[in-house]
Amino acid sequence: TEPIGTFGAALARWAAETPLQAATTFEGVTQDYASLNQRASQVARALHAEGLGKGDRIAYLGKNSDRVAELTCGAARAGVVLVPIIWRLTGEEISYILGDSGAKLFFVGDALEDGAVAAMAASGVDLPVIGLDLSAPRPGWRDFASWRDAQPGDAVDFGVTADDAVIQLYTSGTTGKPKGAVLSHRNGTALKPLIEAADVPWMQSEPGESVLNCMPFAHIAGVGTVLGAVNSGHELVITREFDPGQTLDIIQDFKLKRFFLVPAALKFMLEHPKAASTDFSSIRAFSYGASPIPLDLLKRGVDVMQCDFAQMYGMTETWGTIVTLPPEDHRPERADKMRSAGKALPGVELAILDEDGNHLPPNMVGEVAIKSPTNMIGYWNKPEETAKTLIGGGWLRTGDAGLLDEEGYLFLQDRIKDMIITGAENVYPAEVESAIYGHPDVADVAVIGVPDEKWGEAVKAIVVPKPGTSPDPADIIAFARSRIAGFKCPKSIDFIDALPRNPSGKILRRTLREPYWEGRDRRVN
Ligand code: ATP
Ligand code: MG
Repeated sequence: TEPIGTFGAALARWAAETPLQAATTFEGVTQDYASLNQRASQVARALHAEGLGKGDRIAYLGKNSDRVAELTCGAARAGVVLVPIIWRLTGEEISYILGDSGAKLFFVGDALEDGAVAAMAASGVDLPVIGLDLSAPRPGWRDFASWRDAQPGDAVDFGVTADDAVIQLYTSGTTGKPKGAVLSHRNGTALKPLIEAADVPWMQSEPGESVLNCMPFAHIAGVGTVLGAVNSGHELVITREFDPGQTLDIIQDFKLKRFFLVPAALKFMLEHPKAASTDFSSIRAFSYGASPIPLDLLKRGVDVMQCDFAQMYGMTETWGTIVTLPPEDHRPERADKMRSAGKALPGVELAILDEDGNHLPPNMVGEVAIKSPTNMIGYWNKPEETAKTLIGGGWLRTGDAGLLDEEGYLFLQDRIKDMIITGAENVYPAEVESAIYGHPDVADVAVIGVPDEKWGEAVKAIVVPKPGTSPDPADIIAFARSRIAGFKCPKSIDFIDALPRNPSGKILRRTLREPYWEGRDRRVN
């Protein structure tokens, strides 16, 4: 039988203990654990029949569905490493990932056929393709269901161990070219026993609980949710992509106890007309994270949903969440902690490092480092980047600037690469954005450093005005001044219709910076 700590073993366990328990629900169709387990074996066998085995890569370009869960579980059981690709990426970005990963088989979802063909052409690779759920067949491409169903679905053990890689996720590329973070079965299954042993009631779940899978699959909040659900025996309620109205319906219909959204998605959901009349009373904790949240958005969320909020901090390289700010720290009397990302989960350690890697005392800003059983194996084919990130002793450098207070609360400042050095002062864009976001005429805002003869860099805010308003730059600057120190306030404001964001909703400040830095080198912190 498959060893403990692998996803294959977890799936087999739930199929044996609760075969009739719902495993996936997608577009009105529910599949139980017995079925998901059988199909995972079929997929694992089909992959082996292609000549693929341990350590081989396969790519998936597409949206969420129950078949994606089957593919994920089958690959895990086969020891084949799944490389999910964010379907919103450009052809060039997709072709980079295809080439970099060395994927040998390409799974393509409905409506992404043309993008897949173009990306293959651009990267000069001609992979065999299996259409996952295509509405019309393509010549030369095989169909997932018949490929799967040509194999028997009884138990199978391909000798996969907990330390074998299971997924290779490309980081969001917020600060540069995406890097393939290779994560093992153990990275993904290690957190559950820690959470079970800890006093974190807002994270505790029961087998059979329904969990929402609406974030893009190729993000750790997507594939991590799928594998996490299989590990815990949850029912995955899957939506093809994030849709605010559908999310509100699912919260009510499935009486969700917890769910996760990135701040950008939370904003869309709160703006939906149904939000005001949705019953959120089943929710034990709504969690948000992956990018900084403006305080005003957080307060609006608490007002509308009237439920407990928890913040999550983590990264692709740590299999997602390893730091959380619990609901009790979201109360007004804990206002000093509300700006914190929270505390490390038990079993996870945090440290703040100076440039030479020395540990800094409390309340000093430096680079956040994490020691966690969920820390990745390394970056695919990038030994130098891996050595810079995994620095030994189990520590991982995050590229985030922050401090720890005496109680161990992490206060994030921002990406080290985005920090603005103006005169001798360090300014963290997230703080300035949060201050300006509260202005009544501001719909969205990004803060960047632009070249400045006197100060080296000057703070600039790029503002999306609310529809029908045309705010005065001087008024926005004065508003910022009433909330944060003068040196942090923007020296100038530009207006834009919409901010460039990556598919996980993060502001692409490097794209915004480009026109201002043309022909000049920006120092890299
Ligand atoms: P790249 O590494 O390619 O630039 P990325 O870092 O955006 O992309 P992810 O792994 O998806 O890719 O994101 C992790 C990062 O997201 C963290 O390092 C941190 O900067 C940010 N982040 C995560 N959670 C939070 C949070 N709760 N508050 C603020 N920022 C967060
Ligand atoms: Mg990163």
